[in-house]
Amino acid sequence: MMDIFDVAVIGAGPAGSMAAKYAAKAGADTILLEEHAGAGWPVQCAGLLGQEAMAESELSPGSHVLHAMRGATVFSPSGARLDFKATVPKAWVVDRRLFDQALLRGALAKGANLRLCTSVRQISREKESSILSLAGGEEIKAKIVISAEGVSALLARRAGIAPPQIILSGAQVQVPFAVEDPEKVEVHLGVAPGLFGWVIPLDEGSARIGLCARDRGCEHLRSFLKTNVIKKRLQGSPVALNVGGLPLGPAGVTAVAGLLAVGDAAGQVKPTSGGGIYPGLVAAKIAGGVAAAAALEGDGSALRLMEYDRLWRAALGRELEIGMRVNRMLGKMSNAELDELVGYLAGKPRLIKAIEEHGDIDRPSRLMARMVRYLDWDAIRLTRLLGYALG
Ligand SMILES: Cc1cc2nc3c(=O)[nH]c(=O)nc-3n(C[C@H](O)[C@H](O)[C@H](O)COP(=O)(O)OP(=O)(O)OC[C@H]3O[C@@H](n4cnc5c(N)ncnc54)[C@H](O)[C@@H]3O)c2cc1C
Repeated sequence: MMDIFDVAVIGAGPAGSMAAKYAAKAGADTILLEEHAGAGWPVQCAGLLGQEAMAESELSPGSHVLHAMRGATVFSPSGARLDFKATVPKAWVVDRRLFDQALLRGALAKGANLRLCTSVRQISREKESSILSLAGGEEIKAKIVISAEGVSALLARRAGIAPPQIILSGAQVQVPFAVEDPEKVEVHLGVAPGLFGWVIPLDEGSARIGLCARDRGCEHLRSFLKTNVIKKRLQGSPVALNVGGLPLGPAGVTAVAGLLAVGDAAGQVKPTSGGGIYPGLVAAKIAGGVAAAAALEGDGSALRLMEYDRLWRAALGRELEIGMRVNRMLGKMSNAELDELVGYLAGKPRLIKAIEEHGDIDRPSRLMARMVRYLDWDAIRLTRLLGYALG
C-alpha cells in the first residue's frame, strides 16, 4: 500500500523545515523528504542573520548562534571606508548546520514525519493528489507538495514554476585572518560584477570571506583574496570552501495545481545582500498554512494555492522589488561612482547615526526611507542615481 500524506515537503533546509512545521501545526499529516543524511549539509551560506530572521526562526538562543555583530565597514573599490557600529547587536553569525538541525527539530516537535536519504526524482500530478517517485523505486502520495528544494529546484521547474530572474554565483572560504573588529562585518564594493564581497569574522583570528558574482564566483573570489586589503591580513590557508547559487528576482508565479515553491526554489532571496533565510522563513510559514488548509479542504487547484502567492508577496514583494532596484543600481555604478558614494556617505555623521539606530539587514528599505532625509546631493547626481535605480 502506498503511503498517503496531506502535505509532502521536498527539502529539509530552513524553508522546508519551517513549511513542514506550519503544515503539521495546522493539522495536516505532513512528511518532509531530504536527500542528504541530515539537515544543513553541505553548507552553502555565510551564516549571517539579522534580527528579524532570528525572530522568524522561532529558535531559542542555542549552540547554533556563534556570536553577535553590531556594525559594518563598507569599503569602496579604492579603499574609502564607511564605518558604523550600533550599541546593540544587529545581526548574528550562526553555524548553519546546527541552525538547520534546530529548525528541523521544530518541525518534528509539531508532528511532521521525516525521511532522510530520500531523494524525490519525479512528481506526477493526478486528479486530486501527486505521486512522488523516490530514488530506489518507492512511491508516496500527497495531496499538496511543497518544493523547498533550494536554488536548482528541478522538480519545481518541471511542474511549471519559472526560474528566478538571475542566479548569482556565490563562493566563500573560511580562513585564518587578522580581524579588525570581531563585531563588524566588512562589505567590499566593486570586487566583482553581481553583488559585493564580505568578511564575516568568526573570532579575532578567523573569518568567512566570500562574494557573489554574476558568474564564476570561485575565480572572482581568488582575485578578491589577492587584493591588498585582504591579502595582507590572511594568516594561513582556507580550512573550508562553500559554493552555491543565489537566486534573485522571484518567479512570476510560485503556485501551480498541487504544488507550491518556497525559499530559494521560489527565488525568495534579498537582492541587497543575498540573504535567503529571512524571506524563506516568512514565506514558508505561509506556504505550510495554505498547503495544510487546501489539503484538508480537498482543493489543490492552482486557484486555491494562489492564496500563498498573494500572501507572501503582500509580506515580502515590495521589499524584494526595491532590493532588485538597488542591486541593479549598484551593478551599473562604476568604481569611481562607488568611491564617490562611499566617500559622500562617510561624511554624513547624522546619516551614520541613523544607520546605527535603524539599520536592519532584513528590511533595508525602512532604513533607506530614513536615509533620504539626510541626503542633500545636488539634483544632477540624485537624478543619475534614481535613473539607475528605476532601470
Ligand atoms: C555563498 C553563500 C552565502 C550565503 N550567505 C547567506 C547569509 O549569510 N544569510 C542568509 O540569510 N542567506 C545566505 N545565503 C543564502 C541561503 O543559504 C539560502 O537562501 C538558504 O539556504 C535557502 O534555504 P532553502 O531552505 O530554500 O534551501 P536549501 O537550504 O538549499 O535547502 C534545500 C534542501 O533540499 C534538499 N533537496 C533538493 N532536492 C531534493 C530532492 N529532489 N529530494 C529531496 N531533497 C532535496 C537539499 O538537499 C537541501 O537540504 C548564502 C548563499 C550562498 C551560496
